[in-house]
Amino acid sequence: MAEFLEALDERKILHVDLDAFYAQVEMRDNPALRDVPLIIGSDPDLHHGHGVVATANYIARQAGVHSAMGSIEAKRACPDAVFVTPDFEKYRAISSQIHEIFADFTTKYEPVALDEAYLDVTANPLAPATLAAKLRHRIWSELHLTCSVGVSYNKVLAKLGSEHHKPNGVTVISPDVAMDFVAALPIKEFRGVGKKSQEKFEQLGIKTGADLRAMSQDELRVHFGSFGDQLYWQARATHFGQVKDHRVRQSVGKEGTFEFAIHDRSQVAVTFKNLATKVVANMEAKHLVGRTLNIKVRDDQYKTLTRSITQTEPFLLDADFLARQAQNIFDELYPDTFAIRLLGLTFSNVSPQAFQSISLFDL
Ligand SMILES: [Mg+2]
Repeated sequence: MAEFLEALDERKILHVDLDAFYAQVEMRDNPALRDVPLIIGSDPDLHHGHGVVATANYIARQAGVHSAMGSIEAKRACPDAVFVTPDFEKYRAISSQIHEIFADFTTKYEPVALDEAYLDVTANPLAPATLAAKLRHRIWSELHLTCSVGVSYNKVLAKLGSEHHKPNGVTVISPDVAMDFVAALPIKEFRGVGKKSQEKFEQLGIKTGADLRAMSQDELRVHFGSFGDQLYWQARATHFGQVKDHRVRQSVGKEGTFEFAIHDRSQVAVTFKNLATKVVANMEAKHLVGRTLNIKVRDDQYKTLTRSITQTEPFLLDADFLARQAQNIFDELYPDTFAIRLLGLTFSNVSPQAFQSISLFDL
C-alpha cells in the first residue's frame, strides 16, 4: 500500500533551514565571534540570572547548549561562552531578504520561521537537487550565510532531510531510498515524538523506523491515539500535506451593517470596537498578524470608501488600539455630518504569528 502511494506522489519539495541563524549572522558580522562558543541570549551575570538561549553556534552546541535553555544553565554547560544580546530588528531584515530569494524559486512556498521554509518546486523543470544547489549558492553569494536543505517528495521527508546533514548540507531522499531512510531513523527523529512518546517507545522496545513500521495501525492508535495514525504513515514515508501557496493573500475582517443609517459618532466608535474585538479574536485563533489595516465605510447613498494603513511591523492585536485607528480614519473622511449604513475593519498583508514569536523571548 505504502509503495503504491509513494509512486503516486511525484512532487518535488525542498525544506530550507538556515544554520543556527542568529548565531551565524553575528559570526558573519563580527570575526571575533567566529571561533568561540557563542550564545545568542542575555548574559545571566548582567541580567540577574534571567534570560533564555535564543540560539547558539555549533561550538556551544557541542558543549550541550541548546535553544530555549535557561541562560544560567547554558553558562554552567559552557562557561567560556560569549553571550550576545539578540538583535531581532537585524534578523528580521535579513529574513525578508532570505524569503525574497525563496520566492524567486517558486510562488508555492510556505514560510515557517524567520529562517525556514518549504518550497514546492514541482513545476520547475530542473532537478530538485539542482535547485537546492542553486538556492544555497544564492544565499551564500548574496548574504554570506549557509543553510541546510532537504529534498524529497513530501514535506515530512524534506524536513527530515534538512536535519540530517546539518550544518551546511543537502540530503536528497528520493522515492527509491525513502523507505530505507525512514527505517534506519532513530525513533526520536520522527515528527512529533517528544520526551513522553520517546519513553513510551522505549518501554515498547521500539528504537527505529523499522521497528515502528512493524507496529500495526491499531497498535499505534491504542498507544498514541490520533498521533498513532501520523506515525503509521511517517514510518511508510508518506505524507500528503501541501505546501501552502504563499501567493494566496489572506485577509481577515468583519463588517457591520445598519438597518437605518447612523449619524452619531459615538455609535461609530462602539461599532468599530465590536468589529475590532471580533477581528482580533479571529486573528488570534488563526495565529496570524497583519501589517495593513483596512477601513470600509458605506453611506446611505451606497457610496463606498476604503482607506488603509500599512506598517512595517505588524499591528498590535489590541481591540481598543485598532478601534481608535479606525476611528481616526473615519474622522478624517467625515469631519462633519454623515449617514452611514456599513462599517468594515479588515486586516490584509497577513502572516503567521510564528514570525513574531521570537519577540516573546524573555531577554
Ligand atoms: Mg534554522
